[in-house]
Parts: sequence; C-alpha cells; structure tokens
Amino acid sequence: MSNGKKDAFLVLNAGSSSIKYAVYGTDLTQHLHGQVDRIGIGPAYHGGKKQIDLPVEPNATHAEVLDWLLNHIEGLSHELRIVGAGHRVVHGGREFAAPARVTDDVIAKLEQLAPLAPAHQPHNLAGIRAVARRWPDILQVACFDTAFHRTQPRIAQLFAIPREFSDDGVLRYGFHGLSYHYIATQLPHHLDKPNGRVIVAHLGNGASMCAMQNMQSVATTMGYTALDGLVMGRRCGELDPGVIFHMLRDRGMSVADIETTLGSKSGLLGVSGLSSDMRDLLASDSPQAAEAVDLFAYQAIKKIGALAATLGGLDAIVFTGGIGENSAAVRSRILQGCVWLGAEIDNSANAANQSRITCAGSQLAAHVIPTDEEGIIAGETRRLATT
Ligand code: ADP
Repeated sequence: MSNGKKDAFLVLNAGSSSIKYAVYGTDLTQHLHGQVDRIGIGPAYHGGKKQIDLPVEPNATHAEVLDWLLNHIEGLSHELRIVGAGHRVVHGGREFAAPARVTDDVIAKLEQLAPLAPAHQPHNLAGIRAVARRWPDILQVACFDTAFHRTQPRIAQLFAIPREFSDDGVLRYGFHGLSYHYIATQLPHHLDKPNGRVIVAHLGNGASMCAMQNMQSVATTMGYTALDGLVMGRRCGELDPGVIFHMLRDRGMSVADIETTLGSKSGLLGVSGLSSDMRDLLASDSPQAAEAVDLFAYQAIKKIGALAATLGGLDAIVFTGGIGENSAAVRSRILQGCVWLGAEIDNSANAANQSRITCAGSQLAAHVIPTDEEGIIAGETRRLATT
C-alpha cells in the first residue's frame, strides 16, 4: 500500500477484435472488469451497466484502443495502484512452459512466434507495450495458452512429417491452456478421482479438449495452430490437408483466402450458413443449422473416443466454456455418445447446469465447471510479484 492506495493487478486478454480486462486486489478479489468489442469497426466499451462508444476513429488500432482503455481503467480505480499486469499470450512455443516475467528478450522471442498465432499474438504484444507506456516500471507477466500442454509426452506432440520440420518446432502445441490450468486446480473440489483419467472439453467460440492424468495434460485436440480438432464457431477443426491443395490448385484460392475461409468462415458458421453462435443455431429450425449442431456433437464424440483411448479409459469428463457451461442440449447430445464409456446422464441436474450431471452410480462422471482464465492470470502475476 502507498498514498492510501491499495496495490492491485491488472489482467489483459487481448483478442483479434476484443480486449477483456479485470483488476484484482492482492488477495485476488476482483474489483473491476470489462471489455472493448468491435475493434476495427467501431470500438465500444462495456463495463458493469455502462456502455460507451470509444472517442476514437472507427478503425482505430489495438494500440489506440489500449491507450484509451488503460486511461479509463486508471480513472475507474482511484483507490487502487496497479503494481503488476498479467497478459494472456496465446503462443509460448517450445520454450515457455510456465508464466514468464516480461523482458526485452522475452518480447523478442514472442514476436518470433507471432506467425504461429497471427490473429492473437500481435495483439497480446500490443497489450504488453501499452502497459509499458502507461506504467513503465511495473512487473509484467506473460501467461501462455500453450504452456499447460508442455507436460505431454513427445509422441503426443509429433506430426508424421519429415523430422526436419519437428526439429524446427512444427509440433502439436495445443491451446486453451489457461482454461485447462484453472480447471485442473478445481478438479479436487469436484471429482471423486481428480488424479484419474479426465477429459476437459472447453467449448466456446474456440473449442478444444484436453486429456488429463494426474491433473496434467497428456493430449489435446488443437495442434500447431488453433485451427485443428473440434468444430468451432468459425474455424474448421480437423481437416484433410488434401482439401487445402484442392483450394490452391483447382480453385485458384490464395493462401490468404484459404486462411480466411478455414479460420473465419468455416465451423458452425460455414456449415449452417447462418451463425457462428450456438444459441442462434439451437433456436433455428433451418436444416443446415441442425446439421451444424449435429456435426459439432459428432466431432466432439469422436475426439472423446480418441482421447479416452490415449488415456486407456475414462473416469470423468468436464464441460466448460460458453457452450460447455450453459448448453444442456449440447452436453446431452455429447453424453449420449459416451454411453459406451459408462455415462448415465442425470437429465434434471444437466438441465440445471449443476456441477455433477451424471447419476450417482454412473461409471463415467460428467461435470460442469465454469472456467476462469483471468483468475489464473491474476494468481500467476501475484505469484511472480512475490517470488
Ligand atoms: P469465447 O471462446 O469467445 O470466449 P465463449 O466461451 O463465451 O466464447 O462461448 C461462446 C459460445 O457459447 C457461443 O457459441 C454461444 O452461443 C455459446 N453459449 C453461451 N450461452 C449459451 C447457452 N445458454 N446455450 C447455448 N450456447 C450458449
């Protein structure tokens, strides 16, 4: 504490068109949170009941939006003194297996990884730079979405392509690691066998699954980039690489067109032709919307089978993320495909989004645990601030 102000940590989660923030006290109580959406097309701020159109050009850069946002946060937190900032950084490559204090050297390494996460990493770095402009002397901590998966055996990280590529770091990295890290900390509070064979399904706009044993990642569905694996809001998930040759060779598409098609026009949006938002699809009576939801559930069931095989069986499945936490209908569809693994769904517990959604005697336990990526970042920032 100084000047009567209480020390606090800022958490920034900068995405491609939105920036979320939260401010925590040193006891990790959350004091403030909010976000700016629509970056690039007319940014708007939401915090509590307030909604503000930002006093910047509609096409303002992330850096301009961040400068406004940090000023705004400072104005909101008169009684707080920001002493550290934690950032969600999507890619930590092979090197970063744990949160890192930000230095010039760390920034240079993270810049080199930007091509692996072009829609996120540059914005994560913009957040770090904006904080350094505003509060030059505070501790900054980078928390990586890839880090939780660094415990995986090498075999789970390898692609079957010539060795020179894997030697150069073309590996399955996996993402959503901050969410999985948080869920791992919660398993002992919810599961009978937290150290057992567990699949965590993070189902949001981005979606992936993580197979855990002893609360550590042993396999995951996302790969070198966050495009692989499950059907997502706008991303294709698993795809035969031959489709990319077809797009290049037979359709004359450019690399940029293909990136946009697979990364922003596919998934639920591409299959339904209607929306990337699961709520819209569940409410629609269009057959294409129904097919998109069917494919989402089908791929999820298929990946559960594959991950259960890597674990040699399955004790529990945990649902999290916007869809996983809120959609009883989607959870029910997925669990119907897990009867062979011993799942006996408790329909009323599922409809109520309860913590345990399988019957008492069910061989496979299914749980709903809300994730908290910002809370993990705040905790890690405090940990590095005090060690
Ligand atoms: P992000 O990955 O961007 O953080 P979220 O985790 O917030 O996204 O998840 C967004 C997804 O959650 C959207 O597809 C949204 O429709 C879905 N969702 C949120 N609430 C519900 C609900 N009650 N029923 C079905 N889907 C929901």
